[in-house]
Amino acid sequence: MEDCIFCKIINNEIQSETVFENEYVKVIKDINPKAPVHLLIIPKGESHIPSIKEVTIEDKEILMQMILSAKKVAEDKNLKGYKLIFNVGREGGQMIDHLHLHLLGGWSQETHHADV
Ligand code: 5GP
Ligand code: ZN
Repeated sequence: MEDCIFCKIINNEIQSETVFENEYVKVIKDINPKAPVHLLIIPKGESHIPSIKEVTIEDKEILMQMILSAKKVAEDKNLKGYKLIFNVGREGGQMIDHLHLHLLGGWSQETHHADV
């Protein structure tokens, strides 16, 4: 999609700090981190899925790959606990209309303040 920031990041037209990449996803550091570790798991693919609202059962493989990639990078970074979040729609805090999974972590039990 032409004007999509995340499509441009996947195509390396916009620079990002990549922590993991395979044929299904690119995992980058969020530019404005909301936690000590804040990563974005961004699916690749010809035509992007805008949000969870458009997801169907046909997308099960890419969604599973996103979750497995989140788990892998969390293990690589030795995160004991973390949050995986999809913001859905403007009312749900979604600003970029290319499906992505937030991985937030890096707290200790003492510093974590649950907000959900
Ligand atoms: P959303 O609000 O759509 O769920 O999340 C979008 C996220 O992308 C935000 O946390 C924002 O900080 C991050 N972001 C926006 N533009 C860029 C960018 O150009 N590079 C990186 N690495 N992150 C970005
Ligand atoms: Zn896109």
